[in-house]
Order: sequence, then structure tokens, then C-alpha cells
Amino acid sequence: MNAVKWVFLFQEGSVSMKELLGGKGANLAEMTGIGLPVPPGFTVTTEACRAFYASGRALPEGVMEQVSTAMHGIEDAKGQRFGDPHNPLLVSVRSGSVSSMPGMMDTILNLGLNDETVQGLAKETNNPRFAYDCYRRLIQMYGNVVLHIPLISFEDLLIRMKEERGYSEESEVTAEDWQSLVDQYKQLIEQEAAVPFPQNVNEQLEKAIEAVFLSWNNARAIIYRKAHRIPDEQGTAVNIQAMVFGNRGDDCGTGVVFTRNPSTGDKILFGEFLTNAQGEDVVAGIRTPLPIARMEQEMPPLYVQLAELADKLERHYKDMQDIEFTVDKHKLYILQTRGGKRTPQAAMRIAVQLVEEGIITKAEALLRIEETHLDQLLHRAIDCSGEPEVLAVGLPASPGAASGQAVFDTDTAEHWTKEGKPVILVRSETTPEDIHGVLAAEGVLTSRGGMTSHAAVVARGMGKPCVCGCESLDIDGNLFRAGDRTIREGDWISIDGANGRVIAGKVGLKEAELSAELEQMLQWADEVRTLRVMTNADNPEDARKASLFGAEGIGLCRTEHMFFGADRLPLVRHMILAESKEERLKWLAELLPIQHKDFAGLFRAMDGKPVTIRLLDPPMHEFLPNVDELSQRYYRLAAQERREAAVPEGHEFTSDRSASTKAAGLATAGLDSQDFPSAAVEKAEVEQLLRKVRLLHEANPMLGQRGCRLGIVFPEIYEMQAEAIFRAAAECAAEGIRALPEIMIPLVGHVNELELMRSLVDRIAKRVLGREAARCPYKVGTMIEVPRAALTAHQIAEKADFFSFGTNDMTQMTFGYSRDDAEGKFLTHYVEQKVIPHNPFQVLDREGVGQLIEWAVQKGRTVKPHLKTGVCGEHGGDRQSIFFCHAAGLDYISCSPYRVPLARIAAAQAQLLSGAGSQDQK
Ligand code: PEP
Ligand code: MG
Repeated sequence: MNAVKWVFLFQEGSVSMKELLGGKGANLAEMTGIGLPVPPGFTVTTEACRAFYASGRALPEGVMEQVSTAMHGIEDAKGQRFGDPHNPLLVSVRSGSVSSMPGMMDTILNLGLNDETVQGLAKETNNPRFAYDCYRRLIQMYGNVVLHIPLISFEDLLIRMKEERGYSEESEVTAEDWQSLVDQYKQLIEQEAAVPFPQNVNEQLEKAIEAVFLSWNNARAIIYRKAHRIPDEQGTAVNIQAMVFGNRGDDCGTGVVFTRNPSTGDKILFGEFLTNAQGEDVVAGIRTPLPIARMEQEMPPLYVQLAELADKLERHYKDMQDIEFTVDKHKLYILQTRGGKRTPQAAMRIAVQLVEEGIITKAEALLRIEETHLDQLLHRAIDCSGEPEVLAVGLPASPGAASGQAVFDTDTAEHWTKEGKPVILVRSETTPEDIHGVLAAEGVLTSRGGMTSHAAVVARGMGKPCVCGCESLDIDGNLFRAGDRTIREGDWISIDGANGRVIAGKVGLKEAELSAELEQMLQWADEVRTLRVMTNADNPEDARKASLFGAEGIGLCRTEHMFFGADRLPLVRHMILAESKEERLKWLAELLPIQHKDFAGLFRAMDGKPVTIRLLDPPMHEFLPNVDELSQRYYRLAAQERREAAVPEGHEFTSDRSASTKAAGLATAGLDSQDFPSAAVEKAEVEQLLRKVRLLHEANPMLGQRGCRLGIVFPEIYEMQAEAIFRAAAECAAEGIRALPEIMIPLVGHVNELELMRSLVDRIAKRVLGREAARCPYKVGTMIEVPRAALTAHQIAEKADFFSFGTNDMTQMTFGYSRDDAEGKFLTHYVEQKVIPHNPFQVLDREGVGQLIEWAVQKGRTVKPHLKTGVCGEHGGDRQSIFFCHAAGLDYISCSPYRVPLARIAAAQAQLLSGAGSQDQK
């Protein structure tokens, strides 16, 4: 049997080997292949990482032998030897996962230095200061990454040394100072880890490789993976590469450059660089770097070369690139390239530009759109009415605006957010350790670091507003000063990621509008997709918004949502609590004109587009006061009654407060207050209410008297709704508006239920429309959400003009998970423990629920070949679920207005992917 190949030289790989080599390794290999100036190196595979974990955290057999052979390759290419006291080869050891996880795992630079080789490096470079600086950096990184000694312990020693010598800048530190710091660092390691810093360079290398593998499972990497849905099993590769130095003089430097502006998409080199600095200095935000344009002035020929290479890389990868480079003694090296993270706005802009420049096709542009980008696309901005108090202006690192209470540490950010307080995380700089705080906060504000610093990159990826490098802020513990203003923890501030403004107090925010580029993409999507996109909307405003986003009609109007307004709820409560049909009819008669107006509003907003109206669905108790609260009130009133019995007549209400409290209480119950009755009277009313509410109580309301069951037991409710719909349709038709009602019966499980309700609707239509019927076409269909309905779809289809799959209820009933309880209880645990792959209320369960849908569509169409079918559960706005709907041959999906653009794109992607026949790309 052939030994497993754990190690690939850069010359042996390519970008297509990303799964095995990780993104960074695959790109280094690709760049080596196309002749770019990449320092020589090799990659230890992700397979080795998986084997490492499978064998209880031990490097698999053969890895170090293959590493050693590959090291000889680097030695030959560089003309140096690893561990050679005279001309030592130094290498970097970096993680590189399949999916980009910036800064989440560990890196060690300058490996190969020890007490001997450092002298060789000093002599070879004729620069002892540089050599000892490199050595102390290695000990620090090794101590932190391999031996888990906090970085702060090393930094404290550096700060103390600078203080003792009276230095304010690092540039003042001498070779001897670094040398003495090296000794102190080594002592620190011995004290803290009880092992010496290894002088054996091969031991350094082996431990570093293990540590990078272990960093796959550090806390921040785990959190990041969860947030970005990256599978835990993927593992990371390790890249080992000859060091080049940006920090050995003013003819050296390092930087990060994007081939286009990652915030706006503008076609212009964008990035930062630092002279005489090592790679990590730019990303870590320790020194604020210079804009890349300055490199054009300081190193003109190298800038030109960089611009050429950037263009070459962009054309080669057919995408905007994020490139790390180093200049070592006037020679340019490319250390990394990857698809640049970008704001959603920039993503659209760049994709459209790339199509226009002939670099990619429209289909490629559409397939590239990420769900998260679309999620974030509609960023909020500050409503400019009024002049906000601008405290400071920093770098506009990630667009969008946010208001929140200032907090200065990540744990507090997380806690306060859990308590429901919006927060802005304020830090001098963020590190990957702060990821949970960034995730929790509304936005991030830092006083240090540039546009490519950690805070900027992470916030941009998450679509959170971020203002960076706001150096005029003086952060001091739990407060910051800006000019003469002091902002303390808990004070409200706002940030504007579009222009870097930091504002005192809370500001009004306005929702974003569709950009021209997104409009263009959506138009391309519409040319391709076959799945129609409808919206779930219950009022004209949402309906209009959805239309602007491109909705082709209303796929679900939940009429119960129309009943929550202050003018309706009391009527609805009275209707529910009615003791007789006559009494119920009285209240329904009051609701009729209100519903009539509601439906007319929807028809007007959707003129000419179908409006699918679902008759009343939820259990009735949802409209009534809470039983527990009512009984508490009852007992309070009983106690008051006893007290009042002891008070002389006429003195019951001694303050306005008690009177108004009573009035408010009655109003909440939806009942009239007549001259503030005494506690005894009110108690009697509450008692009666309580009795009725208890009567309506159900042990499993979601499986109880709801949906069509309600319509069958109390037909007058559905009759009123149908009458309101037809009256509104007739009124609109008379105005020249095309009303296209599609009436939907919820929760059908047996064809007889649908048959009964359909005849009810038809009967009312005949009565209301009479001779006008021809001018008001309508359809009657059903929700398919009870598994029995799916299984007997061929029977149900006989009576239905359309099927709309209620995948929320269908998921609930197929899994037997209560949708009201599961997510808050066991479901999160299930997903975390990987009992099931996703939350099935978010991502449609293809194997179970999906099978029912496919069955129902197929059965239904045996009876009616052109039966219209769609999904109106929350899954209609989820990309993966939309892919399923397309594959299952549904006609449409329906989702909330803000998801409509996403759904249009996802529907196009589904079509393109099925056209290409590739499952993998999904
Ligand atoms: C559904 O069950 O999927 C549905 C759309 O109805 P609701 O969520 O209102 O029960
Ligand atoms: Mg439902």
C-alpha cells in the first residue's frame, strides 16, 4: 500500500485542491504555478489535520519525514539550511483552512532561530538588531501559540524594558535591548511552562505544526465556524514557507492590497502598507498603516510592479483579490492571495463590473452572490434630519449605521445584548479573541487599526457597521474622551460606517434602498429563473414594499394579523367570547367593514397580481388575555374588594391612579369600563372572562381547534371573511382595479374539510357577487401543512385550485416538534450536538418534509396536471430551501418582503445550478 501523501510542495498543488490544501495553500500553489514571486514552501494537508484528531491529537505517521524532505527543497531553493549556525533558513508556519477564517487560528514566524542561528542571522544580514528582534518575536509567538502563555505577559516585559530605558518608540530599542529581552522571554517560558524554549529547530517545527492543528479547535475558531456555518470536520492545513522580511530596513515593508475597494467596489487599488514592518503588524492594527497610494510615492517601481501583479491575479482568478505582499530589500514577494472579503454593496458592484469588463458571465455573477451578502444588503443609514453631535471621525470600515449603548469589553457586550440592550463595542483594537463581542454588538468602534485590521475585516464580513482607527478617541477603561466630551459605559452613541462618524446619543435610522447594481443583478436573475417569487404580506404597506422588491403577488396574507390593531382586538375578543351564534354574528357584522377595507387595500396595492388570502387560522386563545395574568388580576381584585368592604361608602377611589389603573386594566381585557365599577363589579367581570378563557383553553393548541376546524365549527367567521373579500373585490373591479383573490383554507387534513369550506366560499361568492361574478375571478385552494393532506393530495387536489405548502406547520407535524417550544428548548442542543444537521424550521428538511412535498406535488398533478403549487412557510426565504422548491417543481415560493430580492437571486441560482447539473456547487 502506498504511504499517504501528507505534504505537497507549492509546485505540486493548484487552486482546485482547496479541500486538501486549504485556501491559502491552494492559492500559494496556484501563484507559484503561474510564475508569481512567491517564497518557496509547502503545505501539510487538511487530511493530516483530520488524521491528527482521529488519532487522539498525534501527528500521523510519515508526516514529519515528508516535512523534512520538503524542507530540503526549500533549503535548496534558498541556498540556506534550517538550523545552520552561519546562514540559517527561517520559515513561517501558518494555518490555512478551506473556508476563509481570518485571524481565527495561529501563526508562528521566524522559526529556525535559536541561540546559535540568531548570531548567524545577525552576521549574515549585518544587522544584529534585526536578528534579535526576530528572535524575540519567535519566542513570543511560540510561547503563546505552543505553550499558551498569554501575549500580555511578553508585552509587559517589553513595556517595562522600554520604560526603564525611557523609550517611547520601538525604533529606539537597540540590539542589546532585544538581546536582553530574549533572555527575559526565555526565563518567562521556563517559569510559566516549566520547559525551556527549544533550541532544536526540528522540535520547534514539529511543535508549531501540532499547535496550528490544535488551533482549529480554539474557542474563537469554533465561534467563527458556527457563525459562518463552516463544518467542524473540515480541519485546517498548515503552510510552511521561507521567511521574507519586511522589517529589516527602510527599503523593506509589508502590506495588504485589494484589487478593488472592498467597501464601495470602486476599481482602484485599495489597501495599506507599512515600511520596515513585519506582516502581522498591518493586520494586528498595532501601528496605523499608510494608504497604499503612498507606496506609489515611496517605492514607485515596486508600486507599478504590484499593480501589474494585482491585475494579473484578478484576471487569473476572475475575482477581486485580497493580496498580502512583502518588500524585502527592494524585492517584491506575494505571500497570499484570496478572494477579497467585501461589503454586500461592493460585491454587487464588482460582480456587475466584472461582467461588463468581460471577465465573467452573467450566470457566473449570479452564482457568486452569497446569501449573507443579500441578507445584509439593505443596510440601514442615519436619517439626516437634524444635525447630530459628531464626537469624532474614524475610518469608514464597514457600512451601515447603528445606535447602541457604549460598552468597553466583549463579555459585557455579550451580556447586555442577551438582556436585550443594543450595544456598540468600543475597543482600542479588536483581536480574534473578541469575536463573541463583535457578533453580539450592533456595531464596532476602535481607536486604532486600519481598514484591514481585524475589527474591520470581521465586521465587514458580518455586515455590521464598523468605524476603525478613530485615533482622536482616548479610551480609558470604561469610558472614552473625545475632545471635552466623556462617554461612559452605558451612554448611547451611534456610528456611521459609511463615513466614519461617531455620534453622541441615539439617532434615527432609515432603511436602505436597492442599488443600481443590485437592480441589475435582480433583472439578470429574473431573465433566468422559472420559480415565481411572491410575498407574505398582511397590509398594503408591506405589499407595496414587496412589490418594489419585485414580488409577483401575495402568496400568504395571514388574516389573523389584521386582527391585532387596537380598533379590532376588542371586537375580535367579543366575537370569540360570544355565548351564542346571534351574539357572534353581531360582532362579526362590526368586523365585516373593517376586513372589507383591509382586503380592498391589498387589492389596490397589488393591482393585477394574485393576492392569496388565508382564512383565519390560529387557535382562538391567541387573541385572549393570558390566563395566569387574568387569575392574578382576579385575586388582586378579590383582596381589594375585601379592603373596600372595610372602607366607608364613597371613599373607594382615593386617587386618580387607582381609577386609571382600573380603566387601563379593563381596556386591556377589551371590555368597557362603566364609571369605574367597584372592585366587586370588576372582579365579577374578570371572573366571567376567566371562565370563558379557561373554557377555550387547549392542552395542545397547535393541534387543536384552529384552521379549517374553526371554520367548520363556526362557519360564520369564514363567511364574514369571504364576504369581505368579495365585496372588496367587487368594489375594486368597479374602480378598474384588477383584484385577483385566491382564497386559502388552512390546516386541511381531509378532503371533506376542504370540500365543505370550498362550498362555503362559493356560496358567499355567488351571494355577494351575483351577476358581477364574471368580473371578479377568484380561486379557492388549500394550505398543505398536515402530513395527511400531503399523503392524500390526489383527493385534495380534486377540490383545490392550488396547493400552498405551509412548511412551518408541516415541519412541526412531521417531526412532532412543537414550533412554539422546540427552538427555545431542545432544538439548539440538537443542532449543536449534530443530532440533526440544521434547524428544520430554518432550512427545509429535504428527507422528511421534502419527501412529503414531492409526493403531494406528484399526486396532486396526477389529478390536475397544471395544479399551481408553492411554499409559504418561512423556508420560502431561505436559499437552500428555495433550491429544493425549484428541484421539486413548485411554481412559486412566498417570503417576507425583505427576503424577496434574495429569493429572486436564489431562484435564478437554482435554475443555473440545475442547468449545469452540478450538485457540488450547491
Ligand atoms: C406554515 O405553517 O408554514 C404557515 C405559513 O402558516 P403559519 O406559520 O401561519 O402557521
Ligand atoms: Mg401554518
